[in-house]
Amino acid sequence: MTQPDPKTDARALPLLGRLWREYLKKHWPWLVAAAVLMTIEGSMLGVLSYALQPMFDRVLVGGDEAFIYILGGGITALFCIRAVAGVSQRIILTRVGQISVAEMQTDLVSHMMSLDSAYFHDNAPGALMERVQGDTAAIQNVWKTLIQGAARDAIALISLGVVAIMIDPFWTAAALVGVPALVIPTAILQRYLRRKAGSMRDVAYDRSVRLSEVFHGIDLVKLSRLEGYQTNRFREIVDRLVGMSIKFAGGGALLPGLLDVMVGVGFFAVLVFGGQEIMSGEKTVGEFMSFFTAMALAFQPMRRLAALAGILQTTAASLDRVFSVLDLRAEIRDPATPQPKPQTFEIKLENLHFTYGEHPALLGASFTAEAGKTTAIVGPSGAGKSTIFNMLTRLVEPQKGSVTIGGVPVSQMTLRELRSLFSFVTQDAPVFDESLRENILLDRTDVNEDQLARTLRDSDMETYVANLPAGLETRAGPRGSNLSGGQRQRLAIARAILQDTPILLLDEATSALDAQSEAAIQEALERLSKGRTTLVIAHRLATIRNADKIVVMDRGRVVDEGTHEELLARDGLYAGLYRLQFREGDDRS
Ligand code: ADP
Repeated sequence: MTQPDPKTDARALPLLGRLWREYLKKHWPWLVAAAVLMTIEGSMLGVLSYALQPMFDRVLVGGDEAFIYILGGGITALFCIRAVAGVSQRIILTRVGQISVAEMQTDLVSHMMSLDSAYFHDNAPGALMERVQGDTAAIQNVWKTLIQGAARDAIALISLGVVAIMIDPFWTAAALVGVPALVIPTAILQRYLRRKAGSMRDVAYDRSVRLSEVFHGIDLVKLSRLEGYQTNRFREIVDRLVGMSIKFAGGGALLPGLLDVMVGVGFFAVLVFGGQEIMSGEKTVGEFMSFFTAMALAFQPMRRLAALAGILQTTAASLDRVFSVLDLRAEIRDPATPQPKPQTFEIKLENLHFTYGEHPALLGASFTAEAGKTTAIVGPSGAGKSTIFNMLTRLVEPQKGSVTIGGVPVSQMTLRELRSLFSFVTQDAPVFDESLRENILLDRTDVNEDQLARTLRDSDMETYVANLPAGLETRAGPRGSNLSGGQRQRLAIARAILQDTPILLLDEATSALDAQSEAAIQEALERLSKGRTTLVIAHRLATIRNADKIVVMDRGRVVDEGTHEELLARDGLYAGLYRLQFREGDDRS
């Protein structure tokens, strides 16, 4: 599934059909009610044009004065009914529209989170946000125009058509004489609009991606003096969008324009036929006026319906993009018949192979991490250490080889159960813009204040929190921006203490901490890892001297393993890395 979404050029009708089946059908009783109300609202125009015949023939020409009041009262009542039907119908449709779009957004977000990590490497967060918000909003806009305006217009057109045919089918045929000329231009225009609508959505993704990248990296943008460069890149994108929107609007307006011409021809044809029949006394002036009014009333709804072509293609483009995500299936899924969680926690990795696209990351790595002990993984950057972590938790799946925990292959457990075995302390632990308390507890509700106080002490957060005016209620800031590297790490430790999982994954911070903090954090980590199967990716070798085992990796393979002393004695890659760090004076522990 991990290929980026297909750039399809799908047609509107099948997509609307699917929208109906998956999101609208269940609201059918409301939609039927709305349709009835719309029929009432729309058909009032037909009734009005029909009422003009007696008005002319009986009142104005025939001189029946009493009938004025009956007719006038009738027409007023007609408009009152139209008003009530219109208001109720709008409320119902807005409700259905909002509910179904909210449901689609929730489905989309929930589904996206189930997709493989690789999907998120291929699609930038900005583009995904635009998809959840922009594409569904586009659908909502259309929904409003399409149903509120269009359905009523269509019904008005039908009722006016019925009146016109009742008065004279020949006149009606004459009025429509220009229609066949519209068929081919309409088809061409639809295709043009479909393509333009698709490209507009793609440029909207580019815009969101750029924005999210600029705001995420704002400090670096400032320090590298890239404000001008980024502004220009942004301007380029919005300029492109402006150009496309103008072309799209022009294309969309062409159809109502063509319709204008056609209506002109129709009027002319009716005047030629009808005028003669009235002069020869075959038809009354009332009939002619009634027909003409029906035609005039049909004009606006018809124009609006023609303008729908553009709107329809915008929805199609957005629907296409939404459904293409909903159709993706994660490759990393729960097994059909999951095995129960293991009861012992020795981790065994055998002959792991993994390639990112063309780029090999693991080339047959094997090692064992003993239960309850600490195993450190060291090696130069790019050796494959993080990839190993990702395989343990099935964020990625090995192309060859196996990972077992206590004898159970990780692929044979449900993802929830597997991931509940691990807690993580990493340098990029996600911190949310919530209070420190919420950030530590995540969604736990079973932790009492004593337990929380002990956790703060054990994670060395106590003094930090005590010195904050708002204490645990202090907000962490967007993406934890109010926290320093050390505080972020302590927060991750606090979470891990509460989660109390049998396996602990530590990715040591690469950013330097002051010696005092580092010693305190190291102590907290040692307390945390006691009795748990612990895997550490170590960047500062001084901190892992006490590990029970050190696994040395290089270019996707395990090249050595043993204790610190054994490895130093062997004078291989580890000894080299170790000497390098100490020459650089990085001995801080
Ligand atoms: P380490 O953690 O030891 O630095 P990694 O496991 O992160 O190494 O990466 C191993 C290799 O895989 C590196 O060469 C890296 O460039 C590559 N790699 C890691 N992640 C990706 C990715 N998402 N796409 C492509 N290549 C990747």
